[in-house]
Amino acid sequence: MPIHEKSLIRPENIHVHEKLEIDGIDVSGHWSTFIESRVITDYNEAMEDEIRALPGGENIHRCWQCGSCTNSCTINAINPEFNPRYWIYLTRIGMEAELLRDREIIWQCVSCNKCTYACPRDVNPEGVMKALLHWLELKGHTAKSPSMHFDEEFAEQVFATGKIEEGRIIRGFFKRTGQELMQDWLVEMVKRMLRHLPVKMLFMMGMANVLRPRTRGWGGAQAAIAEYVVERKRADRRAFGLENAPAEQGPAEQGEVS
Ligand code: SF4
Ligand code: SF4
Repeated sequence: MPIHEKSLIRPENIHVHEKLEIDGIDVSGHWSTFIESRVITDYNEAMEDEIRALPGGENIHRCWQCGSCTNSCTINAINPEFNPRYWIYLTRIGMEAELLRDREIIWQCVSCNKCTYACPRDVNPEGVMKALLHWLELKGHTAKSPSMHFDEEFAEQVFATGKIEEGRIIRGFFKRTGQELMQDWLVEMVKRMLRHLPVKMLFMMGMANVLRPRTRGWGGAQAAIAEYVVERKRADRRAFGLENAPAEQGPAEQGEVS
């Protein structure tokens, strides 16, 4: 028996018995096809509020599902499964389990912000992608994503010195994500830099790696940022009802920011 629009049904929801006989009648193969119920009982009615409580997710309620974000998305052009519009839709109606099916690809967002420029409703879809990643991690649905590791490495370096040094960021990122430092593309990039950049610039870059210079008068800004980070984490945990669970320590609480 043909199933119309079969392509719209997930293969795992279609069941067929290779061999089945009921009351002496052979209903093997497609005669025994059945499709799993689509009744959904596990809505997370707080999901939109949870995302709105996180930085970047504040305007998710403004989305009118025009699809401009997905149409303009860098990653969607190479992976059609990457669909910001759809994830915003799932979040707004609270289909948490459905969203979790894509938890391994949401982190692929490269923060190019094309979606944000295309959005006619000021939703800030790029920020929503970041909020979704943060949400997945806070709820324990995923380990930290590579982009989350990168953001943390970047932010910790700014907190500590008021500056960034690309070489240290790359090394720190590789260490956090368990990657080898000697990667072909990186070796090639360093060779080209050695060949083409002025000696003085190479010297300055080397010294910045060793001495870790700080922005002059950074102490005041550093203390204000540290205070903000602690407040922000507290607010996130409050939004998720996690006030009493053991908190992950950031640089401020670990005393790295002084
Ligand atoms: S910021 Fe992320 S979601 Fe937006 S267009 Fe770029 S890759 Fe796509
Ligand atoms: S472009 Fe903006 S309004 Fe349109 S679907 Fe994306 S987030 Fe929603």
